Amino acid sequence: MKPAAFDYTVPRTVAEAVEALGDTERRAQVIAGGQSLILEMHLQRIRPELVVDINRIPELDGMSAEGGELRVGALVRHAAFESPDAVPGPLGTLLAQAVVNIAHPPIRSRGTMVGSYGWAHPASEWCAVGVALDATVELTGPDGDRSVAAGDYFLGPFRTARLPQELITAVRLPLLGEDTGASFVEHRRTHFCFAQVAVGTTLTVDDGVISDVRIGLVNSADRPVRARAAEDVLRGTELGPLPAGHRVHDDHPFARAGRVAAGQDAAPLPEPFADADYKRHIVSVLVARTLLEAANDRRARLAVREGDHR
Ligand SMILES: Cc1cc2nc3c(=O)[nH]c(=O)nc-3n(C[C@H](O)[C@H](O)[C@H](O)COP(=O)(O)OP(=O)(O)OC[C@H]3O[C@@H](n4cnc5c(N)ncnc54)[C@H](O)[C@@H]3O)c2cc1C
Repeated sequence: MKPAAFDYTVPRTVAEAVEALGDTERRAQVIAGGQSLILEMHLQRIRPELVVDINRIPELDGMSAEGGELRVGALVRHAAFESPDAVPGPLGTLLAQAVVNIAHPPIRSRGTMVGSYGWAHPASEWCAVGVALDATVELTGPDGDRSVAAGDYFLGPFRTARLPQELITAVRLPLLGEDTGASFVEHRRTHFCFAQVAVGTTLTVDDGVISDVRIGLVNSADRPVRARAAEDVLRGTELGPLPAGHRVHDDHPFARAGRVAAGQDAAPLPEPFADADYKRHIVSVLVARTLLEAANDRRARLAVREGDHR
């Protein structure tokens, strides 16, 4: 199919983009990478009267690390995160492990992290990572700027707290300290499918005790989920020796957290090749696995640091 007829504008500043979006008499859509929007327009599931192309707005490009946060501008492509060194510390590891699961290289070279927040697909890797880490969504509209916590931003499949006349200018993520480990693991039918379930986890340990843990669930509900009940199982418990291999015993706290995430945090919607019970099972397995991998990642990070000091 071909898209319905639409007008097209290419603003050069955020103010011009917001002015174009502010014309609420017309159904306007921002285009960033176009990797979701163009498909939806071709299928005529979205029929904007005006497409606002933000690709010529320099102030939306680039990422910066300041004040303990990584600020990702609205034009930063998925591919920018493919190297674990693109972002310092464990956050770089987490983003690099997550990004390779997003579609394939041509899509990653055009699609944007912020565009994923605009689209709000429940199977988006970025959105679940953002919810787990308490990311902040920066919005600019006719009434000025505002920030929304990622946990309050996602309202359901393709539904967010963004007003139609607002532009997302950036997403901010907390940079993680070296005493944190990270892991992201995805389960899907074929390489090019969206995730059936994926999990992104960070684990921080102080004096042998788990002081912080973040678990983000992808495609495990109608929106990205932070698995708070599972996190509560672990916070304040002793880490103890780590088992060898990729699996933990059923009695291990990581396995218990996996079961809690599956039973209390996830609310999966059935799909043609994955019913809700199957998805819950995968949540349980992947939560335990990412916790173990995050703990191993932290241990490896500390070993490197101690080696550097010798
Ligand atoms: C074959 C295929 C496989 C894919 N697989 C995955 C996958 O596994 N995981 C995944 O997460 N995604 C996947 N995607 C989607 C892809 O990652 C998109 O790049 C992403 O969803 C949106 O980014 P974009 O920059 O292309 O946004 P666009 O397509 O340009 O926009 C998407 C929506 O967000 C809005 N929007 C974009 N930027 C802004 C902004 N700054 N302010 C306000 N609104 C904005 C647009 O108006 C539109 O409604 C896949 C896409 C395809 C075609």
